[in-house]
Amino acid sequence: MPRGLWTTTVGSFPKPPELERARNRFAKGEISAEDLERMEREETARCVKMQEEIGLEILVDGELYRGDMTTYFAERMAGYAISNPVRSYGNRYYRKPVAVGAIRRKGAMTVEWWKYAQSLTPKPIKGMLTGPYTMMDWSFNEHYPSREAMAMDLAAAVNEEALALQDAGARYIQIDEPAISVRPEELPLAIRAFGRAVQGLTAKTITHICYGNFDVIYPALLDLPVDQIDLEMANSRYDLLERFRAQPFTKEIGFGVLDVHSHRVETKEEIVDGIRRALEVLPPERIYVDPDCGLKTRTVEESRRKLEVMVAAVREVRAERGITA
Ligand SMILES: [Zn+2]
Repeated sequence: MPRGLWTTTVGSFPKPPELERARNRFAKGEISAEDLERMEREETARCVKMQEEIGLEILVDGELYRGDMTTYFAERMAGYAISNPVRSYGNRYYRKPVAVGAIRRKGAMTVEWWKYAQSLTPKPIKGMLTGPYTMMDWSFNEHYPSREAMAMDLAAAVNEEALALQDAGARYIQIDEPAISVRPEELPLAIRAFGRAVQGLTAKTITHICYGNFDVIYPALLDLPVDQIDLEMANSRYDLLERFRAQPFTKEIGFGVLDVHSHRVETKEEIVDGIRRALEVLPPERIYVDPDCGLKTRTVEESRRKLEVMVAAVREVRAERGITA
């Protein structure tokens, strides 16, 4: 019997409103770091339990203790300062990392959270890191002579953390590079940095890449030294599948079937249809089914409902094709 169509998520889960309030109160000095962390641990446990209840097979810690995906790591590395708030879009402000010296890993950044989440479930928890190219691209640089020099130091730091996650027992290590699809001319640099970041890893490696200019970066993207590339398939109505017919996708795919920018809950039929279309170009053992991107922009309830439909759709296709987990 063929195996495949494993269910997972891209990484982030929504922070419940109580946790957002606690984070704001902590920022104003109204509660202690210990109070905030106690709450983050409680919500992480709730998030792991919810993933088990939904029936997901490869879980995440939900990243409820992270602000954004670059600043979280920058705050924990040597060589980085954090800027005053800069405007991103609309009236949203965020604090951007600035390289002010040689970037180095100082110590574990995610390992304790990974161990905690893994202690709560027998199912595998993915280690989740932000990739060196994206860390570089989303930071200011006041130290390095070139973007490459900065990316390679970041790659060494990410590699140390990835190896620490692997030593702790992580079987899946995801190193996200959402920025890769934005500047096609830098793809070779991103690939070199990624190669350094995964050096020595025997765990399954995954990277999430946001939707972008695939006319230019595909199939060169397949040169990334990674086992699985996770892509946003649903929000472009699976148009990438047509590309894969002409230029075969040679890796495992994280096959996004939930549009994370929409409140609408997908129907089971449309997800079933998307998975059937994936099976026309890829064998089931190379397909992992998940949402298009992180779920942090949705509410907890929307995330749960979308994921429940996703799991039901996978079960239907598995039954129809005789595929087991
Ligand atoms: Zn994305």
